[in-house]
Amino acid sequence: MQAQAIRQAFLDYFVEQGHQIVPSSSLIPRNDPTLLFTNAGMVPFKDVFLGLEQRPYQRAVSSQRCMRAGGKHNDLENVGYTARHHTFFEMLGNFSFGDYFKREVIAFAWRFLTEKLELPAAKLWITVYEEDDEAAEIWINEMGIDPARISRCGAKDNFWSMGDTGPCGPCSEIFYDHGPDVPGGPPGSPEEDGDRYIEIWNLVFMQYDRDSSGKLTPLPKPSVDTGMGLERLAAVLQGVHNNYDTDLFKPLIAAAAEISGKTYGQDAATDTSLRVLADHIRACSFLITDGVLPANEGRGYVLRRIIRRAVRHGRKLGMESVFFHKLVAPLVREMGTAFPELAHAQRDVERALEREETRFRETLERGLSLLEDAISGLPADAAIPGEIIFRLADTYGFPVDLTADIARERKLRMDMEGYEVAMSEQRNRSRAAWSGSGEVKTERIYHDLAMRFSATQFTGYTQCVGEGKVL
Ligand code: ATP
Ligand code: MG
Ligand code: MG
Ligand code: MG
Repeated sequence: MQAQAIRQAFLDYFVEQGHQIVPSSSLIPRNDPTLLFTNAGMVPFKDVFLGLEQRPYQRAVSSQRCMRAGGKHNDLENVGYTARHHTFFEMLGNFSFGDYFKREVIAFAWRFLTEKLELPAAKLWITVYEEDDEAAEIWINEMGIDPARISRCGAKDNFWSMGDTGPCGPCSEIFYDHGPDVPGGPPGSPEEDGDRYIEIWNLVFMQYDRDSSGKLTPLPKPSVDTGMGLERLAAVLQGVHNNYDTDLFKPLIAAAAEISGKTYGQDAATDTSLRVLADHIRACSFLITDGVLPANEGRGYVLRRIIRRAVRHGRKLGMESVFFHKLVAPLVREMGTAFPELAHAQRDVERALEREETRFRETLERGLSLLEDAISGLPADAAIPGEIIFRLADTYGFPVDLTADIARERKLRMDMEGYEVAMSEQRNRSRAAWSGSGEVKTERIYHDLAMRFSATQFTGYTQCVGEGKVL
């Protein structure tokens, strides 16, 4: 079953159960400065759950684009290395705003997986929160699950809260067993870190309101929020273990392999880089489509980090010149129908990526040789000196996680304490040198303009043209 059909089957199933389809919102949360990105399907419904906003429906279903890089959920380091993590992914979710609760949502989820998609029950594994007897009882008595296939887990994975106060409650998660060929054990067991059992669906039962003293009061109308990764479900239904082997990623990996002249599936390091490119082109293209541009702080800095990480992996694959923007067209071919806004933004996305890569390539080689010189004589398991991490960041535009990615490949550690020291020394130096004029601010404005429009061309005193744009 292709991803497109899976997405549709999910929406259709929940429409049959009386849910309203709500289109995906932007990756930039609306009216929520506390959150870097939309990182779950419930984010656009936050105010509905809090009772601050009314909607004409009490049941909703969506396929929400999500980003987990930077911020509270950060899966950037996992990308390329685990079978299941992306920075950008789609979360399928069904929601009840004070309407149905535990009994119904468990039945919906189970029936969707085992009846609609015909997944064998023997392949599924359930977790419940250790104190949630009610959920365990529903799974065992109403769904007929063997108690031996249910793990009771602690608050870390199985108790959800919106913030320090407010709605919260236990979760129940559904895992898929990819079989004994993959190392790992069921959730809650000592071997759970492996990739054999993969979490596919999280059901959150919002049943309490937590006050500032930590006291939990039952909500008069409990709600439900669920989230299932489309990419993970696609892997299950396409009979592959790794998300990157699904139809969502294969064409992107093939495009990256073609541009670099490499073959996928022959060498672990090459495969990691190809997966990173396939993931990062999705993340970067959707971020730019949703209005983010590379910058030195906030959301724009997360985008910059992802682009630079991709460029470094491209260079590892032997791409000597600017290439990353060439993956936008293959992405639009795959996702432009489901996300027309992406197709509309194609040219802007390509231009922004090309500009950022060109810029980074001005310092990439010199940064890499500085790093090579610094680590060539180091023994195994030594740390990259903090001073080097700092110089790479400050002078060569290497975000710290990019250096950390190289450290991981070389099995080196990162001297982050030394990095902090080097950074505060630099801060003290520039504070001492600061003349107190207002120029810093002006410089900042020119810097931001240059970031947005790149080099400008002087064409006389009547107009100034930057890449075809009249300023
Ligand atoms: P994991 O434990 O595997 O990191 P999670 O518990 O952090 O997942 P949730 O916050 O419960 O994930 O999100 C709900 C669902 O979204 C997950 O069950 C999974 O299917 C999907 N999901 C979460 N993070 C990612 C990611 N980085 N890439 C792809 N899918 C994801
Ligand atoms: Mg996670
Ligand atoms: Mg989890
Ligand atoms: Mg989870």
